[in-house]
Amino acid sequence: MAIKFYNTLSKSKEVFKPIENKKVRMYTCGPTVYDYIHIGNLRAYVFSDILRRYLEYSGYNVKKIVNITDVGHLTHEEIESGIDKMEKAAKREDKDVWDIAEFYINAFKKDCEEMNIKEPYKLPRATEHIKEMIKLVEKLIEKKYAYISNGSVYFDVHKFKDYGKLSGNTIEKLEAGRGGRVKHNPDKKSQLDFALWIKNENHIMKWESPWSVGYPGWHLECSAMSMKYLGETIDIHTGGEDNIFPHHESEIAQSEAANGKKFVNCWMHVRHLLIEGEKMSKSLDNFYTLQDLIDKGHSPKTIRYLFLNAHYRKPMNFTMESLGAAKKTLDSLIEFMEKLDEVDGKKNPIVKELIENVKMEFRKAMDDDLNTPIALSAIHNFISKINKLIDEKNMCKRDAKKIKKTMQEFDNVLGVLKIDKINVPKEVKKLLKQRRISRKNKDFKESDEIREKIKKLGWEVQDTEKGQKIIKRI
Ligand SMILES: [Zn+2]
Repeated sequence: MAIKFYNTLSKSKEVFKPIENKKVRMYTCGPTVYDYIHIGNLRAYVFSDILRRYLEYSGYNVKKIVNITDVGHLTHEEIESGIDKMEKAAKREDKDVWDIAEFYINAFKKDCEEMNIKEPYKLPRATEHIKEMIKLVEKLIEKKYAYISNGSVYFDVHKFKDYGKLSGNTIEKLEAGRGGRVKHNPDKKSQLDFALWIKNENHIMKWESPWSVGYPGWHLECSAMSMKYLGETIDIHTGGEDNIFPHHESEIAQSEAANGKKFVNCWMHVRHLLIEGEKMSKSLDNFYTLQDLIDKGHSPKTIRYLFLNAHYRKPMNFTMESLGAAKKTLDSLIEFMEKLDEVDGKKNPIVKELIENVKMEFRKAMDDDLNTPIALSAIHNFISKINKLIDEKNMCKRDAKKIKKTMQEFDNVLGVLKIDKINVPKEVKKLLKQRRISRKNKDFKESDEIREKIKKLGWEVQDTEKGQKIIKRI
């Protein structure tokens, strides 16, 4: 069976074939580090993690780069004031811009860790790659795709004939649709040209360049860092759908103009996340960071699990109700894993068959453009059949071991089961097991004693209909 991914460039599902056998070069657009990332961003990072993990599950060696945008870039609204997001954050928090960057890089890393997102090969920072960016601009000037104007450098979009091939925003369409919204920049030949280098001696983050003291254009960093760490052509580039234009369109233009080669073979984009049916916005008070949700009592792995319930190319409606339902289902998965430890019945050949089937269904769903909701439903189907066998004592310890191994293999991709297991200390786990046995034997005196011991170690055990629950005491 072949893996197929939807490629935004061709607008179709294509069989995935890396440039080099069994090696995947992958780039994900990372955060601008002026604030905490929100859960819409997290969805895109979880997707890129699932993609990487599934490729690894399928035997590929994945080299993944996630960039850190630590240079402030002016959006249209900010041009008037001349203050970008990084600078604004520095003023807001009464810190140095460099401290702001450091602080939010760490916050980003922590969020990723909590969400069980595997560390990439590298997290390169834009400010540490100014030299590479300048070189790329020089190459573009030399090839006449870029021009210098008043100390700034712009990319001449009319020179790049494929402009618009990713987003559909061709020059003709853009020219027809452009109203008076964009402020006229007299330095540009065409108002559609985008900046590669911006002259600004007063900018808080500024560098010397052959053209002026200033800072690089936003799109430039991803081209420069992708080329540096992954080469001129890469296999996969991911991002949120809002990255398609102008960011990714511009990345293609400058990279392909510079190298005369295709930049990315497969572009993959995650759709927006809605909160309770509405677009996330600070004014609607539905703007959540991971910490906001943790403070409301939700766990990162529940959020991760909820993300997996929707296909990445469909807009997702994130609701507190769906988060509650995700928690219940995830709890049942974890309980199932625990239940497997206590299986003690007779050997049953059907287990092997069920395992083979679920593995096949999982692969089939994931091969089809990472269809996680279908993969999950195959797993739940499997669990309900196995649960029946456990209840009938129609399965032996070895069968249970094989099932557990299969579930762990799935979880190497999904990444939702292991987190608690890692965080709960061995000592506590041992006590939990003892307590489960004492409760089974109806020795409640002993079970209460064990509960106290667990409490002393900083954990609290709760008894629910479905078994023991362990919570870290704060
Ligand atoms: Zn980017």
